[in-house]
Amino acid sequence: MSPDQQQQSFSLEPPPAVREMRDWVHGFAADVMRPAAAEWDEREQTPWPIIEEAAKIGLYSLDFFSTQWLDPSGLGMVVAFEELFWGDAGIGLSLAGSGLAAVAVASNGTPEQIGEWLPQMFGGPGDVKLGAFCSSEPDAGSDVGAIRTKAVYDAASDEWVLTGTKTWATNGGIANVHVVVASVDPALGSRGQATFIVPPGSRGLSQGQKFRKHGIRASHTAEVVLDDVRVPGRCLVGGKERLDSRLARAAEGQRSGEQAAMKTFEASRPSVAAMAVGVARAAVEYATDYATKRVQFGKPIGQNQGVAFQLADMQAAVDAARLLTWRAAWMARNRIPFSHAEGSMSKLVAGETAVRVTEQAIQVLGGNGYTRDFPVERWHRDAKIFTIFEGTSEIQRMIIGRAVTGLDVR
Ligand SMILES: Cc1cc2nc3c(=O)[nH]c(=O)nc-3n(C[C@H](O)[C@H](O)[C@H](O)COP(=O)(O)OP(=O)(O)OC[C@H]3O[C@@H](n4cnc5c(N)ncnc54)[C@H](O)[C@@H]3O)c2cc1C
Repeated sequence: MSPDQQQQSFSLEPPPAVREMRDWVHGFAADVMRPAAAEWDEREQTPWPIIEEAAKIGLYSLDFFSTQWLDPSGLGMVVAFEELFWGDAGIGLSLAGSGLAAVAVASNGTPEQIGEWLPQMFGGPGDVKLGAFCSSEPDAGSDVGAIRTKAVYDAASDEWVLTGTKTWATNGGIANVHVVVASVDPALGSRGQATFIVPPGSRGLSQGQKFRKHGIRASHTAEVVLDDVRVPGRCLVGGKERLDSRLARAAEGQRSGEQAAMKTFEASRPSVAAMAVGVARAAVEYATDYATKRVQFGKPIGQNQGVAFQLADMQAAVDAARLLTWRAAWMARNRIPFSHAEGSMSKLVAGETAVRVTEQAIQVLGGNGYTRDFPVERWHRDAKIFTIFEGTSEIQRMIIGRAVTGLDVR
């Protein structure tokens, strides 16, 4: 391809199918999610009727999620998440939470596992179901290698026995399918870990405390207690043969599948970044509109440079965060290695941007911004999660720091 042709092939315009999907999701976000957002934030409960409505139109479905994940441009999922989280982050996470569990199985599971379990994480209209991804533990948050939940193989019955306590699980305890990371060989640290599917109704799995949160309150977050939970051998994600050879390589000190797992994790970060971009965009749009209408000293407050410059910085920051997000999503789709941890970069910048611009939006709205009669205080509370979950901002900086320096930054 000549340089000219290469130049022409570059475009930041999503393909027509993605644009059409974006407008459709935006309609749901504007007409169904926005009007319900304040109520579900106050109720602090899973918004089942909204999930049901999304299922009815095919938005909450395995088909929708897989189509967007596999979209050839790489933009399907990030564009969809930006719109959903523009609608509302708490309800958005209730709709997206199963997707996180599904990705954990889809990225390392066998075709049989994908075919058996993913449909059970979504269900269908009239019978919606949820998935939960359970990695974090009380003593293993950022330090994933410290996971203590144990998985022991019982060869006589071809079952795995899971014991431990998970925490912070989105949809934990109310999900139909739980995807659990456990230690098979504690001596190998994170290389001795494996992922297990806990089928619906498994005995010994129960919900611990449900957390009362600062933001994203419509999303259910809880502890999950695993008390000698027996799951069939086929529930080990990727299968036993692959686990055994990975453990053997790790025991010999070779680089192993753990690297691949880290890469998969890195590849899913742009979708979390997109969620943050959605919240940030909502705040910028709202504050900008407000600033053109609110009059003080005989003119719209937006006519003051002090306010307009703030809005300019907010808009520029959101657009920059989106560009990093799209770049990472595009790289992931095209299997271009994240040599500078571009996935982490997108999550770091988008998360920090969401917190900053939602705070600025409160300032632009003045006293109104500080009340629950206006949505910006909720968006500010919601935004804070993006510097914490799926790797805190500090952990993202550590990953980027390692990538750019080549040093073992700790
Ligand atoms: C609402 C919500 C939903 C969640 N959903 C899920 C879920 O579905 N599944 C799941 O498995 N987990 C989930 N999590 C857990 C989330 O991923 C963890 O909270 C996160 O990884 C941080 O772990 P921690 O809370 O234990 O904080 P800690 O690891 O204790 O960190 C505390 C502070 O220390 C900093 N820190 C730690 N280590 C370092 C270091 N080496 N260098 C610099 N700073 C450091 C952190 O950045 C942070 O600021 C969720 C959390 C929340 C709040």
